[in-house]
Amino acid sequence: MNSKSLRILAIDDMPANLALLGLALQDDYQIQIATSGAKGLELAQDDPPDLILLDIMMPDLDGYETCRRLKSIPTLRDVPIVFVTALTEIEAEAQGLMLGAADYLTKPISIEIARLRIHNLLEREHLRRELQRREADQRLAASVFAHTHDSVVITDANNCIIDVNAAFSRITGYSREEVLGNNPKMLKSGRQSAEFYKAMWQSLSVYDHWNGELWNRTKNGEVYAALTSISVVRDEQGQIHHYIGMSADITPLKNHEFDLERIAHFDPLTGIPNRVLLADRLAQAIAHTRRARNHMAVCYLDLDGFKPVNDQFGHEVGDLLLIEVSQRIRECLRAGDTVARIGGDEFVLLLLDFNDVRECEVVLERMLRRVAEPLLIAENLVSVSASLGLTLYPNDLADADTLLRHADQAMYIAKQRGKNRYHLFDQELDRIALIRSETLSEIEAALVNDEFELYFQPKVNMRQGKVLGAEALIRWQHPKRGLLPPLAFLPDIEGTDLVIALGKWVLSRALDHLQNWQQMGLDIVISINIAPRHLLHHDFVDSLKSGFANHPQLRRGCLELEILETAALEDISRVTVVMKDCQELGVSFALDDFGTGYSSLTYLKALPAETLKIDQSFIRDILGDPDDLAIVAGIINLTAAFNRAVIAEGVETEEHGVLLLKLGCDNAQGYGIARPMPANELAAWVKGWQPNAAWLNRKPE
Ligand code: C2E
Ligand code: MG
Ligand code: MG
Repeated sequence: MNSKSLRILAIDDMPANLALLGLALQDDYQIQIATSGAKGLELAQDDPPDLILLDIMMPDLDGYETCRRLKSIPTLRDVPIVFVTALTEIEAEAQGLMLGAADYLTKPISIEIARLRIHNLLEREHLRRELQRREADQRLAASVFAHTHDSVVITDANNCIIDVNAAFSRITGYSREEVLGNNPKMLKSGRQSAEFYKAMWQSLSVYDHWNGELWNRTKNGEVYAALTSISVVRDEQGQIHHYIGMSADITPLKNHEFDLERIAHFDPLTGIPNRVLLADRLAQAIAHTRRARNHMAVCYLDLDGFKPVNDQFGHEVGDLLLIEVSQRIRECLRAGDTVARIGGDEFVLLLLDFNDVRECEVVLERMLRRVAEPLLIAENLVSVSASLGLTLYPNDLADADTLLRHADQAMYIAKQRGKNRYHLFDQELDRIALIRSETLSEIEAALVNDEFELYFQPKVNMRQGKVLGAEALIRWQHPKRGLLPPLAFLPDIEGTDLVIALGKWVLSRALDHLQNWQQMGLDIVISINIAPRHLLHHDFVDSLKSGFANHPQLRRGCLELEILETAALEDISRVTVVMKDCQELGVSFALDDFGTGYSSLTYLKALPAETLKIDQSFIRDILGDPDDLAIVAGIINLTAAFNRAVIAEGVETEEHGVLLLKLGCDNAQGYGIARPMPANELAAWVKGWQPNAAWLNRKPE
């Protein structure tokens, strides 16, 4: 207690009376003087002093009345009042004390005694206030302890329970008496590990505090979640005095968290994992398989015939079917495997720990049989089957998304191959498909960027030394790979609609060139190669018509279409119709690569092609190979019999030409005459061409 901060108010009509006392006290306290009772009341009320010295005998308001009034003011009630008077009568003292005075000092005042008494009084008052404050604190603490919703456990230094509150009993079911003297361990649920508790005690010993969630067990065995905070209370010497543990029951919160978790990770209909949890499981499964150095299968399962069931019997039956199917799938799996529903009737399975494909196939075969068993739902007998695609990790050493995509692709193949079966993803096929799709988009872009070009290779009549025309042959001026021949890219687009787009481009570009040459006075026939798919496309004839419409100056009869003999035979009646329609537009036909197909004479007779073009593979060897020579001679005779024109392709040398002329084939195309050349070189070539003297005007033999 710092006495210098304490203030004493002296009330006396004759302050001189107090002069000596005041002098004696002013070193220790602050002294304030009031010269009347009224003045004293006013000062005291303004700022309550710590002690009042009060004279009794004063005019107007005497000391007794002043005291009474002081005591009636609530803020001043507890301020000790000391009467200072010359009266020695015992009654006067009694009256003052009755009014609540704390003490009496009689004049003449013994300074030493007065100082001591005042000191004691102030000290006592200080202690009283302290006590009062503590009592209030304790009352508060006790009411917190008693009324809080949180459970409070107090243990001694040995961690034996010395008190618990009502909330503790409510939450745990144990009465206070049942737990006193026990270790709080008695609430242990077994859900926390020994390491967990070790860390908790570590924190308590280092920080005197621990905070966290505990799973505890109530008296009747239920497990509950307690958000707990434990504090160590030490005495002045730093020794542990006791522990206070406070816990809030957060079981409802935890349950809610759990529900949210379920909603986020499980399919509400079937209760099996959803796509989100699958992603998690797949990542784990990959890691596990890598560690275990064995195999896992990622399977995509899609039901066959689910939609009809849904449509026919309604969604409720559909839902029940999905529940049953997911159950059946689960039956076929082993612990550690996963089945997830990722869409309407689509499931993904993760089968772990296989040593070879066969093991996995056994499981899938069983699963297919099980899913395909008919089932009775709401008195309806329904049946579905499953198409399964799978890929094996790490044979297919891909990331999670790619594995799923591969399994999905394989599933589509299983569907295509007739459903109710599984199909194993084939990496090699996938690689080819991938390259192909890249090529396709590259070719599409090349068309837009105008990277294609037509080259032309002359066709001549060797005997007359006359240029008949030229065949348009496509080239790709590839920005990186340079000039590409057709066989470097056409096979990639075979069977796709890109063939048609490219074919249309060739047609219109060839007509441009043709029109151009005609205007220059060059009178030749241009032939273009038509892919089977393009020829059979429904608007082929129309696009030919509009091609001509776009080139109105074009003289008719100058366009020839080369179609593959093999293609013409695929759908001979339809091809015949298309050919006839085209011929009405003045277009003629050559059967390209003739001899490589298996055309029977009947077919050949039916096809209205004006020209047969003998394949270069036969021509190449006629000089040395009697078989090829016989074939070529046969074809030439055939064309004569059927009254068709004939041309030989692949004429590389003078001798080839000489022999062909001998056999009766006058028309030829080949490196021996000219290589395919850019369009802008053709006119000059035609002009400057020197017919081969060995061929010119040669008599047939
Ligand atoms: P094709 O219609 O039989 O064309 C003849 C091919 O033989 C051309 O190859 C030509 O350069 C080549 N050739 C010509 N003379 C000789 C020779 O004396 N010796 C050798 N070794 N080869 C010779 P190219 O230009 O590489 O075309 C290959 C094939 O691509 C063509 O065979 C044709 O089937 C196809 N093709 C070319 N352009 C087009 C087109 O615009 N559309 C379609 N659908 N196919 C085309
Ligand atoms: Mg051709
Ligand atoms: Mg050919």
